Amino acid sequence: MSKIQEKRLQQAEINIGMVGHVDHGKTMLTKALTGVMTDTHSEELKRGISIRLGYADAIFRKCPKCKGDEAYTTSEICKICGSKTVPLRRVSFVDAPGHETLMATMLSGAALLQGAVLVIAANEKCPQPRTAEHLAALKIAGVKNIVVAQNKIDLVNKEKALENYNQIKKFLSENGYENAPVIPTSATYGVNIDFLIAAIERTIPTPEYDLTKPLKMYVVRSFDINRPGTKPENFKGGVLGGSIMCGKAKAGEEIEIAPGFGKRILTQISSLSTSTGIIEEAHPGGLIAIGTPLDPRLTRNDQMRGQIVAKPGILPAEVNELRLELHYLDRLLIKIPEFRTNDAVIATIGTATNLGIITNCRHDYIEIKLKMPAIVEKGQKIALSKKTESGWRLAAYGKVL
Ligand code: GDP
Ligand code: MG
Ligand code: ZN
Repeated sequence: MSKIQEKRLQQAEINIGMVGHVDHGKTMLTKALTGVMTDTHSEELKRGISIRLGYADAIFRKCPKCKGDEAYTTSEICKICGSKTVPLRRVSFVDAPGHETLMATMLSGAALLQGAVLVIAANEKCPQPRTAEHLAALKIAGVKNIVVAQNKIDLVNKEKALENYNQIKKFLSENGYENAPVIPTSATYGVNIDFLIAAIERTIPTPEYDLTKPLKMYVVRSFDINRPGTKPENFKGGVLGGSIMCGKAKAGEEIEIAPGFGKRILTQISSLSTSTGIIEEAHPGGLIAIGTPLDPRLTRNDQMRGQIVAKPGILPAEVNELRLELHYLDRLLIKIPEFRTNDAVIATIGTATNLGIITNCRHDYIEIKLKMPAIVEKGQKIALSKKTESGWRLAAYGKVL
């Protein structure tokens, strides 16, 4: 492999969301594609559901000798002819929780996605509530390229599979995703994973990122990587995990973190890494970790989730109020009443989850006073959730005026 190719495989080119209703097989399918079990958090194991966004990378490969979609794999050896396969690209899967109370986590992850696999169980009627809500969230986030995995195909007969397939097709075309391919899979038995990879390769290409723009990155996680008991002189600085939206990042560069805590934070990139190790330069797409000289108390427990990292001076001023053109979602299964003045609302702005109070509202316009300052751009779409009996539900989106 050439040095350039080796470098290209160090950082994933895109983030692909694993979305869909709870128990339809998102975590199992992520495992089938990457070999990694993403719910390893003790609380997740106990409750048997994914709580946080999980991440796992795969390198998609193809046999140079075999023809057809069976030639796609993540294995270094072709299962058909035994040849050595060639790497195509590294992709990162973002496994979203499908539980109804965890919609905010899914929404904040949606900002990072260049594409998604919508997992739909073949043995249940389609759509289920979270199937519809997650697809609506993808639409708001501008994710156009999706592949549907009609999973648990091992649990149904041919008639049931076809009936479910027709429900899926109808649901997709009602939502403007009629071109999304539907691949029958069984995550448990590893059936059709090759066809799923082939469909992702065709449907979710790596976008042409603008590397000439100044750096802008959304933070989704942050950590304190020091073990308890580390002496202060050996402390490692705070680490920020996220995905670059435009531009590039290099070690040594100055960065600004906004909105910060009360005020913006000026610091620098002391190191860059991906799950494969240290890298010299990072591009948009796959998740990266930025090492900084910041006090790790600022970054522990994902406290920096929702912050924006950028080249100093390029971000607009923080706002404490949103004025939005309002659009209700009309394709959800659960009817949600319209917003009213004084209602509480959760606004998902990039990867930030921001609580607010409605100060003014009409059918097509809304004003929200935010609890915490936010950074927005004109035309940006913001997902709006409303409190209902079943918790916070995605109800509408607003376009920044
Ligand atoms: P998630 O909530 O969407 O992440 O669903 P999981 O991946 O955790 O799977 C939920 C349950 O369905 C688990 O018990 C899995 O073993 C099971 N499951 C997932 N995929 C399949 C499949 O293709 N076939 C069958 N029979 N069971 C599956
Ligand atoms: Mg899961
Ligand atoms: Zn082969």
